[in-house]
Amino acid sequence: MSEPRTTTESTRHGTTAGEPLLEIDDLQVHFHTEEGTVEALDGVSLSIGRDEVLGVIGESGCGKSVTALSTMGLLQSPPADVVGGSIRYDGQELLDLSDKERNEIRGDDITMIYQDPMSSLNPVLSIGHQVKEPLLAHRDISDEEAHERAVEMLDAVGLADAERLMDEYPDALSGGMRQRVVIAMALITEPKLLIADEPTTALDVTIQAQIMDLLTDLREEFEMSVLFISHDLAVISEIADRVGVMYAGTVVEDCEMRTLFEAPLHPYTRKLAESIPSLETRSDRLPTIEGTVPELINPPSGCRFASRCPQYIGDVCDTVEPPLETPPELGTSDHEVACHLYDNQREENPPWPIEAGSDETVRPEGVDDA
Ligand code: SF4
Repeated sequence: MSEPRTTTESTRHGTTAGEPLLEIDDLQVHFHTEEGTVEALDGVSLSIGRDEVLGVIGESGCGKSVTALSTMGLLQSPPADVVGGSIRYDGQELLDLSDKERNEIRGDDITMIYQDPMSSLNPVLSIGHQVKEPLLAHRDISDEEAHERAVEMLDAVGLADAERLMDEYPDALSGGMRQRVVIAMALITEPKLLIADEPTTALDVTIQAQIMDLLTDLREEFEMSVLFISHDLAVISEIADRVGVMYAGTVVEDCEMRTLFEAPLHPYTRKLAESIPSLETRSDRLPTIEGTVPELINPPSGCRFASRCPQYIGDVCDTVEPPLETPPELGTSDHEVACHLYDNQREENPPWPIEAGSDETVRPEGVDDA
């Protein structure tokens, strides 16, 4: 696993790079099902600066993909219903746009890579046809020019003999080659924002490492912002500048990648960080988080992590939804957490959470003892 990038290497959360490129604010998405209304997203707020990679981490069903599909405008409605909030891209409210206006942005300024490359490729169309398609749809360009650019892109994503590949069909390619083709399709319009939803999950470990290296290189070459979604913290740490931790349709922590490892605050984040296998410590069993994610039909009215939280502090956790905010002790930091351990109730609580697996009290750098 490579070292997370430092503050100075990264563009900070809408600060050094000016206005964020993408701002998701208090997004609420419901799904109307026969069993009832699933409150899939409950006030999700995330932002991505220009040339920044935001990792979004969380267990299956926590709302990562719903957030991505909402941004792309690809949620099927019904059953999905965006009941509140805002998604601003480059200062423009996406939720107010017509289908035609969203189509112009989708596949051009904002593109997406999905988990399973086979589901992104049409088996009856040639690779060349599919890689050229976004350019022909969004640019005033001849077929010859699109062909030339498609060959360059296939070459740029590390596919040998790109000219010959243009005439091949997806079933002639390995899983890794298909995902490279999908990346070429996503980048051929030189998008400002790439959404990568578990782009390596369907690949074996060796190919996964190659694809991560490729995405890291291309992200720098194309100077694009990336929303990188994964359930795997080790994978996210290879590419992300910042990370948003999602749990049961909410964002529970938002901070720089390095901070997440050095001073995670939310009990769920701490458990996630603990669950990464270490080469230094031997153990017969990998650490797990006991319990299960709550049902999102009639979800808990307080903290959604309360039933699994090792640092549960009482009624306030069950009854009051903790807001995502910077603890007062962190001053102007942009480290945000949604947990009552850090809010005004704190006088009754331990000053800072006990470090997982030890009896030490952890204080983020620069925070005085209370
Ligand atoms: Fe745990 Fe309470 Fe914090 Fe939720 S609000 S994470 S239950 S301490």
